[in-house]
Amino acid sequence: MDRPPLGPAEIVVDLAAIRANARLLRATAGVPLIAVVKADGYGHGMVESARAAQAGGAAWLATATVGEALALRAAGVSGPLLCWIRGNGDGPDSDLAAAVEAGVDVSVYSDEDLDAVAAAVHGRSEASEPARIQIKVDTGLSRGGAPRAAWDDLFAWARQGEKAGLWRVTGIWSHFACADEPDHPANHRQEQAFRDALALAGEHGLRPELRHLANSAAALLRPSSRFDAVRCGIALYGLDPAPGQATDIGLVPAMTVRAPLLMVKELAPGDAVSYGHRWVAEQPTTVGLVPVGYGDGIPRHATRPGAPDAAATVAIDGKRRPIRGTVCMDQVVVDLGGDRPPLGSEVVVFGPPGAGGPTAQDWAEACGTINYEIVTRIGGRMTRRHV
Ligand code: PLP
Repeated sequence: MDRPPLGPAEIVVDLAAIRANARLLRATAGVPLIAVVKADGYGHGMVESARAAQAGGAAWLATATVGEALALRAAGVSGPLLCWIRGNGDGPDSDLAAAVEAGVDVSVYSDEDLDAVAAAVHGRSEASEPARIQIKVDTGLSRGGAPRAAWDDLFAWARQGEKAGLWRVTGIWSHFACADEPDHPANHRQEQAFRDALALAGEHGLRPELRHLANSAAALLRPSSRFDAVRCGIALYGLDPAPGQATDIGLVPAMTVRAPLLMVKELAPGDAVSYGHRWVAEQPTTVGLVPVGYGDGIPRHATRPGAPDAAATVAIDGKRRPIRGTVCMDQVVVDLGGDRPPLGSEVVVFGPPGAGGPTAQDWAEACGTINYEIVTRIGGRMTRRHV
């Protein structure tokens, strides 16, 4: 049988979309944009996404780990850069010294953090610039950040270290728990707590240039939370941070995942598909094989037994094709409903809405998760191409 050469299963990232999204977020928020590029740019490529965000006007970049921040610097990405977690797969404090040396703003929220920065600063030449630190306060997420009871002492010591020339407190910041639910009372409480923290920091003589609280959802839905900058991740990649909450400002999803159609075969009534035989053909039909699976980040929850109508779909020639049976490590089977598209046809797993196929949001709904998880976990063996 003749078979056309197959293209690879690949992730295509539209950097122009990231640039445009950065521009749009900056214009909508009316304050500088901190582009969050952690976790490999939510699966889009950290360095490429960082450069695209900067080209779109992002004034700052942010990563979670010190290691990510250092990787950006190693790739030649300059400019203001914040990171907020140490010891997450990074060599704890030697990397901290490297981050200080590289002019990375390091987030701190405890005495131990300040000790670590003081140790990192120790031994640097007199001519060195002070370390740059941003204090994270916990305003109600109860994750990282200094709890309210610790603010007074932490601010006092932070100011003392500033006066001693150890560091400069460049920012104070916090993170919302429920920003995707604009009417949630926690949002107001957190914003008020943040204002309390800023007031107290001011009493200690701290004058940070960057006070920031809003993630993507808050940046779009809660203008009062924008302060000096908004810290956006998911919206930068064009995905909706709060589906159904009037956040549509024209963001464009940057990621498309596609693969070739590998094989088409006939099924007779009663033929069962994939591991566990969790889907059984009720009538004669055709199915196709697509070479992406959970080893590439496709969630196994894309199908659930007994809920075939809720299965995630892919698109072939603009036509939606539901996944059938269990998602395997390397492949999925899709229902072609009796059609026989040519082998090698492009299968769009997900992409921007205009492309006719499902979106990452559609996948999130089918899999009972959020669009963040869909794009961030995608990868595995797939090639990623930036266009
Ligand atoms: N700030 C912090 C501390 C985060 O952990 C994240 C992402 O999880 C963000 C900002 C960006 O959030 P979003 O992607 O919702 O804009």
